[in-house]
Amino acid sequence: MKDSNCIFCKIANGEIPSATLFEDEKVRVILDISPASKGHALILPKEHYANLYEIDDETAKHVIITAKRQATKMRDALGVEGINIVQNNGEIAGQTVFHYHMHIVPRYKDDNVNIKWEPGELSEEKKAELIKKLSL
Ligand code: 5GP
Ligand code: ZN
Repeated sequence: MKDSNCIFCKIANGEIPSATLFEDEKVRVILDISPASKGHALILPKEHYANLYEIDDETAKHVIITAKRQATKMRDALGVEGINIVQNNGEIAGQTVFHYHMHIVPRYKDDNVNIKWEPGELSEEKKAELIKKLSL
């Protein structure tokens, strides 16, 4: 399904032009318009899924396989020193476009990209509680 009000549906399906690195029947890979670093790319499914909870398993598999291919190309062609894969879900997590997408962020020495957090602590009590609550 497509959402006629969704900019990423339009970009993914070619209604709005984009700097495309790859396209097939399921996804389009584009350069981010406001890149965190040189080569920052986004993988957009052509179907509309708002987030990770909604995306179907086949498309999710295809996205990560595409990420692997694109990251390998970045390593080989740009000589990047590392890659972060980022995928935000929900406003609180930094999602601003509510069409599932995966960021591929190439990393370079002293690039000032900030993907960090303060390490917390996991008590024995919390650990037991979380294993109980979160086990699949
Ligand atoms: P989010 O914050 O939702 O995880 O990421 C949205 C990303 O989409 C941002 O990095 C932003 O720069 C990028 N973006 C937003 N609008 C456009 C657009 O029209 N074209 C492209 N290429 N990227 C966009
Ligand atoms: Zn969409």
